[in-house]
Amino acid sequence: PIYLDYQASTPLDHRIEKVMTDCLQDFTGNPHSSTHRFGHQGRRKIEEAQDHVAALINARPHEIIFTAGATEANNLALLGIARARTGPRHIISGQTEHESVLQPLDHLAAQENVTVTLQPVDKNGLINLDDLMSAIRPETILISIMAANNETGVCQNLSAIGQICKERRILFHTDAVQALATEKIDVRAMNISLLSLSAHKLYGPMGIGALYVRDGTEITPLLHGGAQQRSIRPGTLPTALCTGLGEACRLIREYRSNAREHLQGLRARLIQRLEAELGNAIELNGEEAPHIPGCVSLTFKGIEAEDLLHELPDLALSTGSACSSTSGEPSHVLRAMGQNSIDIAGTIRLGIGQPTTVAEVNYAAAQIVTAYRRLIAGNAIPSK
Ligand code: PLP
Repeated sequence: PIYLDYQASTPLDHRIEKVMTDCLQDFTGNPHSSTHRFGHQGRRKIEEAQDHVAALINARPHEIIFTAGATEANNLALLGIARARTGPRHIISGQTEHESVLQPLDHLAAQENVTVTLQPVDKNGLINLDDLMSAIRPETILISIMAANNETGVCQNLSAIGQICKERRILFHTDAVQALATEKIDVRAMNISLLSLSAHKLYGPMGIGALYVRDGTEITPLLHGGAQQRSIRPGTLPTALCTGLGEACRLIREYRSNAREHLQGLRARLIQRLEAELGNAIELNGEEAPHIPGCVSLTFKGIEAEDLLHELPDLALSTGSACSSTSGEPSHVLRAMGQNSIDIAGTIRLGIGQPTTVAEVNYAAAQIVTAYRRLIAGNAIPSK
């Protein structure tokens, strides 16, 4: 089938695979402890990877803490910042955040005496900045707002939120997992104190991500047991995976502007073909807000997305989001945007990526149109 699920994961870029294979074949010792040549080689690889990750977001190399992925990075950011502070603690986040932000916040609220406010969004998925400012209290320690949403692609205004955090002296964390492949994020210019990222959304390997932690930010580790990564995240680092993430970040700086153009062209083509055939039967979610070009959230009127996917065996895509499609819960993101449950049930997410071709988009659009018409015709036949 044609892969159209790039928000769930991206295929490994062969250049990244090569760097990782070289690293695996050319034995490097423990990068943290060894005094011999092998260990030194490993350490150099890790440092190079840190340099590349840091350069992508304008951080300093030692501010990059490797993790097993963005779920861990988000947990470390939220739990780690809350636990490093005493007294009344208040955290502001958003209703459309990823579960790996929402659930640690639930835990903090239920078990660790932290007050949490989740800001609503408008029908385009955007947080209102005046409301955000009004939500700030004297005890607010952190604002955590994602860069781009994984279901709709909608991008929040990081510069403006960073400015608010700077003026009010509040830490700012952003989950930038879905944004980094196409959007330029500068942690200094945007006053971001913590940023989560994941390699498998950037054409790199699964199982590795990072948390940027601005110099001087107090953070309590989740794990205990070693001095690696300044004890913020102890444990021997997987050298090959780190080099994979580093190479992914290095390549993004090379291809980002071309990638944007490529994806914007494909997106426009896809939407234009679907609209030409289906008109008002489809609705684009979050289209009026700034969004990443690779994510198209579409609501189909009068059918269930599950049925549509069933009719599309040649296309690998998701309903609302990968997470909600496994939990069976209706998307909390679309609900926060004011959609009713019928529309939510009729929503699919089309994810296009670097390897996607014009021919694939044409084929996908034609398949979707045919499948939709078949379903609508079937629904119209009265059952006996
Ligand atoms: N945050 C967002 C916005 C995501 O889309 C994902 C991926 O599903 C994650 C966090 C979790 O990332 P990982 O798979 O690296 O744990």
